[in-house]
Amino acid sequence: MAYKHITFPEGGEKITVKDGQLVVPDHPILGFVEGDGIGPDIMRACRPVWDAAVQKAYNGKRKIQWMQLYMGENAAELYDGDYFPGETREALQDLIVSIKGPLTTPVGGGYRSLNVALRQELDLYACVRPVRYYQGVPSPLKHPDLVDVVIFRENTEDVYAGIEYQSGSPEMRKVERFLKEEMGARFFDHSGIGVKPISPFATKRLVRKAIKYAVDRGRESVTLVHKGNIMKFTEGAFRTWGYELAREEFGDVTITEEELYSVHGGKQPQDKIVIKDRIADIMFQLMLLRPNEFDVIATMNLNGDYLSDALAAEVGGIGIAPGANMSDHVAVFEATHGTAPKYANQNKVNPGSLLFSGVMMLEYIGWKEAADLVSLAYPEVIQSKVVTYDFARQMEGATEVSTSGFADAIVEQIRGDIDLETRRERERKAIEADRKEREKRRVSQPFAEMEDSGRRPQAVGDIMTRVPVTVRPGATVHEVTRVMREHGVSSVLIEPGADGQWAIMTQRDIVKRIVHANRSPSRVRVEEIATKPLVTVPSDMELHECSAKMLESNIRRVVVEQNGNPVGIVSDTDIFAMVDQFGWEPAEHY
Ligand code: NAP
Repeated sequence: MAYKHITFPEGGEKITVKDGQLVVPDHPILGFVEGDGIGPDIMRACRPVWDAAVQKAYNGKRKIQWMQLYMGENAAELYDGDYFPGETREALQDLIVSIKGPLTTPVGGGYRSLNVALRQELDLYACVRPVRYYQGVPSPLKHPDLVDVVIFRENTEDVYAGIEYQSGSPEMRKVERFLKEEMGARFFDHSGIGVKPISPFATKRLVRKAIKYAVDRGRESVTLVHKGNIMKFTEGAFRTWGYELAREEFGDVTITEEELYSVHGGKQPQDKIVIKDRIADIMFQLMLLRPNEFDVIATMNLNGDYLSDALAAEVGGIGIAPGANMSDHVAVFEATHGTAPKYANQNKVNPGSLLFSGVMMLEYIGWKEAADLVSLAYPEVIQSKVVTYDFARQMEGATEVSTSGFADAIVEQIRGDIDLETRRERERKAIEADRKEREKRRVSQPFAEMEDSGRRPQAVGDIMTRVPVTVRPGATVHEVTRVMREHGVSSVLIEPGADGQWAIMTQRDIVKRIVHANRSPSRVRVEEIATKPLVTVPSDMELHECSAKMLESNIRRVVVEQNGNPVGIVSDTDIFAMVDQFGWEPAEHY
């Protein structure tokens, strides 16, 4: 394809997509947009770092062929005032993978924001922001090293959809009339009105991307962050559709958090990712107090906006937070800060944000070794206190260097003797140890763990007593009472006899069918006095519904069943303990 101002590099091939996967040649053509303000400074500094990492990792076998694309002020100069030329849009789509610096929002120009235009026109529906800590970076947290999450923020809908009506406008009056008169809604007169659409389509493609990312990289969990307790049909639906997608498309590689507790007793199976959800407000608290419990996060536009910047601040601020906007395959990696015009062309600012966006890009094309080299070289330089002005002002005894000076120091580290394998192994072991430690707590104190980790019991599986004690049908009542005493339980399940049915015997049966009936416990077999068939409930039954079932059947405990087998028991005592510990909020007052 012939472009007007864009020129193809001498060598290299384009990345393509085959069977839903990127096919990356050894010399891929990647697009770059310098951006405005400090953009050229940081892009100029970062490209040699990425190139050095690729050269070192693959001994020259692989090489990025850069192709410059134009957006923002330099585009306006070249293309007669057009800040986002059509051929740039085509090239971004055609090359599939590109990286860009920050862009000025043209005042009074054709676009509200170039970044918004870019996302909309290329349908880059997921904003992906990894947030992790690098040793030596100034942070307000005591243990910033516990933060390592990747946020998938939905980019196209929510209150950002642009469906808004100004207070007093004819459109607003029309919507107000409809809502009040036809829908019976109540709100103050002359309110500005915004609409918050959340669709199953957009939710599912976002959650699909997040889960796929977690699966490909062996991450531990995906957390759906929402405010579904208040906004049931938008944020609540996001949660429902998220779980639905996980079950339908990733059922063999995921379990829910509820299953983690109810089926697996808190032990995470090796090859399964846990899908969980948290209310947005609690999430902010948890990311300060227990950040290591979260891994991949999928959320809607507004929550994601707040969360991305708040989390970035935990590990050194947006100056070094990387990001990308992605569609199914097309991805534009970008510095997440603005153009900081007062520092333009001074070779002064921190290139960290763009640098790590490049690391994301290398990972995205499968060049993990090169990505790791940059990630490992970076903390070495920071810990030697060679930093740009922004970190220097927060560190004692720092040596302040320029943007390019900092990049040179990283290149020097990359070219030195980084022992990639040993460091990777160290990181892997640290992650493993942390996971094991948390697993131990989940197994030994599930209730306390649930409360501390911001999860409210919602379903039967959350509060049931796991692994019920079972006995053979032929055992005598005398033998069984001993078993009950040893295990400290007030009921046991009786394995199926000839009729194939499970049964239950409780302390109450001893009162009624042994003492009151005047029979000898050593002569009566337990199956004779046990009750069957069992009253059972599925582990995902809501607690409210479960209590209804217990009252209807006039029983004090129900058996929780999964695939025809009893996996737990919920009793009055469990429900009492849950209310005592967590309280009980009627659904409509959440
Ligand atoms: P900004 O450009 O991000 O700069 C705000 C402040 O953040 C700077 O003055 C500086 O703080 C610090 N900072 C930003 N990048 C830094 C870096 N690489 N190294 C060290 N410090 C850095 O935000 P803004 O002034 O609000 O926005 C300016 C323009 O950028 C606007 O036109 C806006 O629309 C645009 N923008 C673009 C993007 C994008 O393209 N993705 C994103 C946001 C904003 P100190 O003053 O404390 O040194």
